[in-house]
Amino acid sequence: MSTIAHEKYEAVIGLEVHAQLLTESKAFAAVKPEYGGAPNTQVTPLCLGHPGTLPVINENLVRYIIKMGLATHCGIAERSIFARKNYFYPDLPKGYQISQFDTPICHDGYVDIELDDYDKRIGITRIHMEEDAGKSIHDQDPYNTLVDLNRAGTPLIEIVSEPDLRTPQEAYAYLSKIKQIVQYLEICDGNMEEGSLRCDANVSVRLRGQKEFGTRTELKNMNSFRNVERAIEYEIYRQIELIEDGGTVVQQTRLWDTSKMESRPMRSKEEAHDYRYFPEPDLPPVVVTDEMLEEIREELPELADVRRKRFISEFKMSEDDATTLTDSRYLADYYEEVVEHTGNPKSASNLVLSEVLRVLNEQSLDIREFSIDAQRLSDLIRLKEEDKINSSAMQTIFNEMLKNGTGAEDLAKELNLIQVSDSGFLEPIVDEIIDQNPDEVKRYKDGKKQLLGFFVGQAMKASRGKANPQLVKDLIQKKLDN
Ligand code: ADP
Ligand code: MG
Repeated sequence: MSTIAHEKYEAVIGLEVHAQLLTESKAFAAVKPEYGGAPNTQVTPLCLGHPGTLPVINENLVRYIIKMGLATHCGIAERSIFARKNYFYPDLPKGYQISQFDTPICHDGYVDIELDDYDKRIGITRIHMEEDAGKSIHDQDPYNTLVDLNRAGTPLIEIVSEPDLRTPQEAYAYLSKIKQIVQYLEICDGNMEEGSLRCDANVSVRLRGQKEFGTRTELKNMNSFRNVERAIEYEIYRQIELIEDGGTVVQQTRLWDTSKMESRPMRSKEEAHDYRYFPEPDLPPVVVTDEMLEEIREELPELADVRRKRFISEFKMSEDDATTLTDSRYLADYYEEVVEHTGNPKSASNLVLSEVLRVLNEQSLDIREFSIDAQRLSDLIRLKEEDKINSSAMQTIFNEMLKNGTGAEDLAKELNLIQVSDSGFLEPIVDEIIDQNPDEVKRYKDGKKQLLGFFVGQAMKASRGKANPQLVKDLIQKKLDN
């Protein structure tokens, strides 16, 4: 693919994101859906599609989707209805999925995404409620397909974007933003690898400057953020190449193959399902009252965008630092707790951004699993602030704290790292260093003032890291300059 051809074209992308909600029970049945349970253990007669069973709506399904709608600036319909989406598949025993059709509960919202060089607002067409289907398992029995219905009836929300995205990077940023929001709201764990967040991507290309959209394809089966980006990239090039070679894009659904890093057609428009949507007769309309809306609005946490701006102004930090610290709600909570205990936003961000994040990354941990809680980390920072330990001791103690639950001060004593600021202790050390290095002393006196660092280093070493470096420096300077 030549870059010339690519510059002639522009991609148009719209995402359909499914988020599995963290409700205590399924959408319409009183059983808890849990990832990884033994097959067909989390089911009721309703999930199995037995005749005579009737669905009852889980109130939290409605509350959670309204949270999402409010967080993404959507209008919330006062009244919306469920619809049956009919299709035949072994993992769908009822023969239909309960979803919403032309009256989604949330509509016309947006999210703001940040790219390296620019920010952009992405429209959200609609967010609706639906239930998940079960799972067909093709790789455990050589002759048969097995069906696990644990997932059948799990509550989902589907977030449909406007075709506002133009590059794979924008799609990645948008998806990350959606993940961040559902995690802040605590309505979905956002785990793409486990399938609790899923994404279909609609992709078309058109000549730059052209108004009408090109024919789109829909990509499915991408189970990580990187794969979404790669699959879209691949599809853009595939379509451009096709058009450049005189062909035309046909509307079709394509499956992404992670191992081959390519997509292949699954079904074309002619084979597309006719879902014969009709209103679900077994469920009443969902009515959202003003009181309910107000109550949910009150429950909304401060979201990442707002929190980030506050961190910048309140704690005087850079945009990048604020972005990193507010990326996860729990990391931001942790940081704020440390600031509260220490009263020192700068030291707190230094330590969290360097040491804490380093450990989390190395060990693939979430901050909630981190062994040093905010209180213990604060105690460490305070020791440093009160000049009881120096920076290298802080590092040593931090590493020790990772291994056990001992407090910072106890460790400092145990490891003999309490800083000595007593000149009675420091003077003999400094005198010795000066005696032992006559050549350096001479060069220093001849004007090579950079040698001060050398003396300080030697004295720190002689004190086995316990000396207060500022005091050592002052002392050495005084002696040498005399
Ligand atoms: P369907 O219900 O058939 O999936 P929708 O009209 O709901 O179709 O659109 C699904 C997604 O496709 C939306 O995210 C929308 O933004 C996107 N989309 C629509 N037209 C195009 C296009 N020409 N190119 C890329 N994406 C598109
Ligand atoms: Mg679709």
